[in-house]
Amino acid sequence: MNFDEPRQQILQCRLCEPKFGFEPVPIFQGTERSAIVQIGQAPSSTVHMTKKPFNDASGQKLKYKWYEITDEIFYNEDFFYITAMAHCFPGKNAKGGDNPPPLACARKWLKQEFAQVHNEIYIIIGAKAAKFLFPDDSFEELVFKDSVLNGKPAYVLPHPSPLNVRWFKDHPQFEEQRICEIRKVIWRVLGLRTGEQE
Ligand code: SF4
Repeated sequence: MNFDEPRQQILQCRLCEPKFGFEPVPIFQGTERSAIVQIGQAPSSTVHMTKKPFNDASGQKLKYKWYEITDEIFYNEDFFYITAMAHCFPGKNAKGGDNPPPLACARKWLKQEFAQVHNEIYIIIGAKAAKFLFPDDSFEELVFKDSVLNGKPAYVLPHPSPLNVRWFKDHPQFEEQRICEIRKVIWRVLGLRTGEQE
């Protein structure tokens, strides 16, 4: 099976339409050559409307503050394959928050995507995505250690959402130290200069 086939299948998927109550919009980017596979949780309503991954407040923090890269790099498909547990925005709950990402999506598509992409590393974003991929591990521990997924290096990040204030307050060492270590790995994989003596 070549890469276009699963790509088209995902783009045409409407499995969750009865659950969502609206037409799903699958959103992802990348090719089989992408260097980094990034797995998030689910697109936000802003991403759903603009059809561009991480084109929201979470994305601002992720791209510019944590990765310290431009949109040109982030949206370059040779660099990033951007997928998620759920490829579509799952709708809002009664309190105004986003519904949880449907596990059916991850079960249906993620393994196929992993099999197709010849990436060097994985970045996993958010506790729900981490729980799905590393069900036996504590999220706190995963964030602060280097992991392995499908035989390749994997790094777990907390969700960069502005609503995640409490977690960052309780874990200042993430933004003070850990993200610097992960950024170094990302820059090395992307072939960017870190400004440090190698
Ligand atoms: S969330 Fe996933 S499984 Fe559900 S409709 Fe979108 S692509 Fe299909």
